[in-house]
Amino acid sequence: MNILVCIKQVPDTTEIKIDPVTNTLIREGVPSIVNTFDTFALETAAKLKDADPTTRIIVASMGPEQAKEALKTCLSVGADKAYLASDRAFGGSDTLATSYVLSCTVKEIEKREGAPFDLIFCGKQAIDGDTAQVGPELAEHLNYPQITNALEVSLVGGKVRARRETEDGYEVVDATLPAVVTVTKTAYDPRYASVKSKMAANRAEIPMLTAADIAIDTSRSGLKGSPTKVKKTYVPVRKKGGVKIQEETGEIAAQKLTALLSDAGII
Ligand SMILES: Cc1cc2nc3c(=O)[nH]c(=O)nc-3n(C[C@H](O)[C@H](O)[C@H](O)COP(=O)(O)OP(=O)(O)OC[C@H]3O[C@@H](n4cnc5c(N)ncnc54)[C@H](O)[C@@H]3O)c2cc1C
Repeated sequence: MNILVCIKQVPDTTEIKIDPVTNTLIREGVPSIVNTFDTFALETAAKLKDADPTTRIIVASMGPEQAKEALKTCLSVGADKAYLASDRAFGGSDTLATSYVLSCTVKEIEKREGAPFDLIFCGKQAIDGDTAQVGPELAEHLNYPQITNALEVSLVGGKVRARRETEDGYEVVDATLPAVVTVTKTAYDPRYASVKSKMAANRAEIPMLTAADIAIDTSRSGLKGSPTKVKKTYVPVRKKGGVKIQEETGEIAAQKLTALLSDAGII
């Protein structure tokens, strides 16, 4: 079984700042982490490998060179190899362009590794962009079935089976392989790295893939190749604290509320 896990390096959420001129995230000098949902996706892959040690896990990211740090973190907790797709032509990509670049990255890694992926895991969503679009779009580009919001994943009769979270509860779905599965917060925590695995990950070579390497149509990547345009970003005005009505009886409280609403011209 060959598994690819898509990893996004994201700024630590408490530190997010937006450039008011370009409307993009200010990433310089901001501490970065592996997207939380991607750590659950990687742990889900690692559990499949625990069950079948012949499984190979590759992690891949599209991003600047600093994303290698995120990939090294993944190498220390279960991934066997990492690739980074990095090129100025990818900068400013929206979700459609990102998923297109990732789909070409998948194909190039398969060529280099000499084997197709059976499963592609993504996090449910990135904690900075928060769109949850990249996984489903990647499945569409590859023309693979997709299961989103998975809590548990197993392999049954040559298919992938996932227990997924829905608004009303849970459902269990099967998909034929190869498939894309996006993973939400699982019941289990991702495993920790050991000192030995951290040192090995630090020494690992991470191949970089350029736009030419993955043979993309550059009119479909970057800011120019992105159909979404961010017109404006702003922090919503904080609501003022409300008025608390505390009276001796419910009747008096209701009268006071009616008077307040009437004074405000609401009723
Ligand atoms: C017009 C526009 C311009 C933008 N310009 C910039 C910019 O200049 N710089 C910038 O950094 N961002 C930019 N963005 C944000 C960028 O589109 C998103 O960060 C990116 O496309 C992923 O979307 P998301 O964060 O919502 O991921 P989601 O769809 O929420 O992510 C779901 C999952 O997909 C996978 N995934 C997502 N992104 C990647 C990735 N890069 N590599 C590997 N796996 C991934 C992960 O597994 C992740 O858990 C721009 C967005 C728009 C709309």
